[in-house]
Amino acid sequence: MGKQALEINADTFQFFTRNPRGGKAKDIDPEDVKRFLELAEKNSFAKLVAHAPYTLNPCSGTEKVRNFAFTAMEDDMRRMEYIPGNYYNFHPGSHVGQGTEKGIELIADLLNRIITPDQSTIILLETMSGKGSEIGGRFEELREIIDRVEISDKLGVCMDTCHVSDAGYDIINDLDGVLDEFDRVIGLEKLYALHINDSLNPAGSHKDRHARIGEGHLGMETIVNVINHPKLKGLPCILETPNELDGYAREIEMLRSEYTA
Ligand code: FE
Ligand code: FE
Ligand code: ZN
Repeated sequence: MGKQALEINADTFQFFTRNPRGGKAKDIDPEDVKRFLELAEKNSFAKLVAHAPYTLNPCSGTEKVRNFAFTAMEDDMRRMEYIPGNYYNFHPGSHVGQGTEKGIELIADLLNRIITPDQSTIILLETMSGKGSEIGGRFEELREIIDRVEISDKLGVCMDTCHVSDAGYDIINDLDGVLDEFDRVIGLEKLYALHINDSLNPAGSHKDRHARIGEGHLGMETIVNVINHPKLKGLPCILETPNELDGYAREIEMLRSEYTA
């Protein structure tokens, strides 16, 4: 994946730790890891972002699903140490009718069982669109999770532009205001990474359907404002737009040309 990233002029990438729809992870090949670390070093890669499987739901009403969340995340944390010091992003989960408070409690419980003081990985809660019973559509919910986690210096947030807009935060007309609110509620020092996506739906739609950059309701201008915002400078930006590799190459080229260093 490192070589592919270089081919499209990226200096970071996001990868799934295992099949996004579930299951077992491939065994790690230490030689492969070594080659990657050398390549990343040589090409000054930024922090990488691992993404937990979508089926991981720490606040499910079903014990079996919660147990999978624990086993998968514990295994992922062990595997992440092969590439020390990077980020591991996950969807906080859906409380499926148990209520937001119960959901937050279950998510914090899981994190308290997972996080160890000596891990080098920072775990990131993704800002969500708030569809269905999703937790994380409001900054306050993420704050509450962080507050309940004991070793909270290993915990941060990844902001997804499609999700925050779908959740009702007006990054189109008032990016400054949204970032001020983020800072007030969570603290910008907790923001470690960005998911750069346009949205197929208008702000507040609670839908979570990503669009290609410039082809959705956010539009090119909003995305360019995000990547150039002084408070967001230096954060790894991950594209999760509906594209193949050539499409990502074009988006990276376009965004790099709009980026003012
Ligand atoms: Fe995600
Ligand atoms: Fe995302
Ligand atoms: Zn999404």
